[in-house]
Amino acid sequence: MHFRGAVLFDEPMDAHTSFRVGGPADVLLKPACSDDVAAVMKFGRRHPVFILGAGANILVSDRGIRGIVLDMSGFDSCTVTGTDIVAGAGAAVSDVSEIAARNGLSGLEFIYAMPGSVGGSVWMNARCYGKSVSDIIDSVEIIDEDGQSRRIVPSPSEFSYKVSPFQRKRWAITCARFKLQEGDKQEILKEMDEHRRDRESKGHFAAPSAGSIFKNDRRFGMPSGKIIDSLSLKGTAVGGAQVSPVHANIIINNGGATAEEIFELIRLIEKRVRDTYGFELEREVLLVGDWEKEADR
Ligand SMILES: Cc1cc2nc3c(=O)[nH]c(=O)nc-3n(C[C@H](O)[C@H](O)[C@H](O)COP(=O)(O)OP(=O)(O)OC[C@H]3O[C@@H](n4cnc5c(N)ncnc54)[C@H](O)[C@@H]3O)c2cc1C
Repeated sequence: MHFRGAVLFDEPMDAHTSFRVGGPADVLLKPACSDDVAAVMKFGRRHPVFILGAGANILVSDRGIRGIVLDMSGFDSCTVTGTDIVAGAGAAVSDVSEIAARNGLSGLEFIYAMPGSVGGSVWMNARCYGKSVSDIIDSVEIIDEDGQSRRIVPSPSEFSYKVSPFQRKRWAITCARFKLQEGDKQEILKEMDEHRRDRESKGHFAAPSAGSIFKNDRRFGMPSGKIIDSLSLKGTAVGGAQVSPVHANIIINNGGATAEEIFELIRLIEKRVRDTYGFELEREVLLVGDWEKEADR
């Protein structure tokens, strides 16, 4: 495989995840250009490849990741064209939101201060403050498993709550075009500031985490955080992993937590909720890497 970017062997994944946990990836590749991504995607037809955004929604095993991690962080361009913004997959969504605001463009306020990349947020269809990324997507550039670049214009019906059509494909997202509107700069900045403060008040930046562990499910009648809180689980700890004392749907790494401890705490919450309410909480955080034994338990 011809590859021009950086190649890192046995790269510790704790440096690449917001939980600050995770063992070594066999090989971490940082593509320098689209041809590099295409080469890795073609290679991925026969070998395991995990595409990494900002690592803000994943729990990587202490044993690490076998095979290749394709780190898209270098694709961080951002261009304003009229009322649209075209952002590289590796750009931080919060930075893109800030660039929109500086240009008097409204539509990305909701995602300001949320950790994560453009690629990861499109893939996850990230949602906050009543809006989803799908609400503002115009089109998405991808490289498929044959190494071909394509522009996809997904229809709104292909998205739902934290679900995107990209979750059913083996494609690398390289950039996304967001449709925004002209707005009042001061109003835009005010809304962004409110979201940042709200996140601060919920302890989002106080300790390493991956944000919400579980999705919400309307059928349960209350948000997952409230369900977990009703079982007095705030503050519950397994080693260095703790249910946030501020927000029960967040698990924090209190320093020195292992992925195994975080996973045990997830399982403990799931069991308590199942035993008490009969609900099966759906995980939002993704288990990545060498988890086989634990996931089977
Ligand atoms: C403090 C905190 C608060 C959070 N608040 C919210 C919130 O309010 N709402 C919310 O929805 N989420 C929230 N999250 C979770 C996280 O920020 C989002 O899910 C974010 O969209 C993940 O983006 P990422 O780049 O980190 O993706 P990663 O965690 O790196 O990856 C997630 C998935 O996307 C795939 N992926 C990533 N990049 C690409 C690409 N270029 N091409 C193809 N696939 C790709 C990965 O393979 C993986 O399957 C929060 C997280 C933290 C730490």
